[in-house]
Amino acid sequence: MSKILVVGGAGYIGSICVEELLNAGHHVGVFDNLSEGHRRAIDPRVRFFQGDLADISVIKLALTEFQPDAVMHFAANALVGESMTKPEKYFNNNVCNGLNLLNAMHECGVKRLVFSSTCATFGIPESVPIHEGLPQNPINPYGESKLIFEKILRWYDEIHGLTFVALRYFNAAGASEQFGEDHRIETHLIPNVLKVALGQRQAAEIYGTDYPTPDGTCIRDYIHIRDLASAHMLALEAPKSAFYNLGTGGGTSVKEIIDTCRAVTGHEIPVLERPRRAGDPPRLIAASEKIRAELGWTPKHQDIRKIIESAWAWHVKHPNGYGD
Ligand code: UDP
Repeated sequence: MSKILVVGGAGYIGSICVEELLNAGHHVGVFDNLSEGHRRAIDPRVRFFQGDLADISVIKLALTEFQPDAVMHFAANALVGESMTKPEKYFNNNVCNGLNLLNAMHECGVKRLVFSSTCATFGIPESVPIHEGLPQNPINPYGESKLIFEKILRWYDEIHGLTFVALRYFNAAGASEQFGEDHRIETHLIPNVLKVALGQRQAAEIYGTDYPTPDGTCIRDYIHIRDLASAHMLALEAPKSAFYNLGTGGGTSVKEIIDTCRAVTGHEIPVLERPRRAGDPPRLIAASEKIRAELGWTPKHQDIRKIIESAWAWHVKHPNGYGD
């Protein structure tokens, strides 16, 4: 058993990783400013520190009091579209505030980090599936902010001995029985399509039907949130610092997602075709051989229908999300 401080543990991915950590018998602390996260997504068994990464003194207080063996860092802004209109928000939070966390860890002697990175660091990839050796040329400030942080991590490892595992997520989706996706402003495809079936939106929107893909809509690699969480558990035990692409290797188009949502919900889900959203690459699919080979990760919930069924079950049970 270890002590793990989960920064951003009240958010979508963080809350489900906390659930896995508790199930595995770890002692868990959550540090969150509740700007995107939800108090009801915090398991009562964890020690909760409400604080903001902009303030290094509160991070140091939490680290000093909780004395974690490792930190998991989920607290970031992660919307491609928003980053194209508010780059300052992305560089301030994802780089400057993230650096506060690293500096606090260094000063408090915490030597291990699991970091949420993203496939958006690759931009429009040279080839698909995307393996770790491809050049990283982000096409939006979100991807750039995460790439800058990846570069900082290399140097903190080399100079300060702060070891890390950076997991480059593809598209997190689905829910556990207890926790699911509830963003205050929802922009993600699957929850937005399911909101139509819940009667909360009139129609699903497709951002671009003229991409160079078989049906003209963007293709993404959707990974079940529980498979994502299991990768974090393995990352805690990783023998050395590393970057891993984390997706299943399968690709699903926007139109295929909408069709699957129709099949799962039994709702006709009307659709509006919209122009492309700025900053979206046409096709993002992970090559996940490295994490499978080095950490023994095996996704167990790859079927997109099952992923959407788990999300639908959570939304039906929580039609207003966490209600805050
Ligand atoms: N998308 C869409 N309609 C929506 C939301 C998203 O067509 O209501 C598209 C978006 O342009 C992208 C894909 O669905 O091609 C996945 O977008 P999402 O925001 O879920 O995740 P991202 O890939 O940006 O992290």
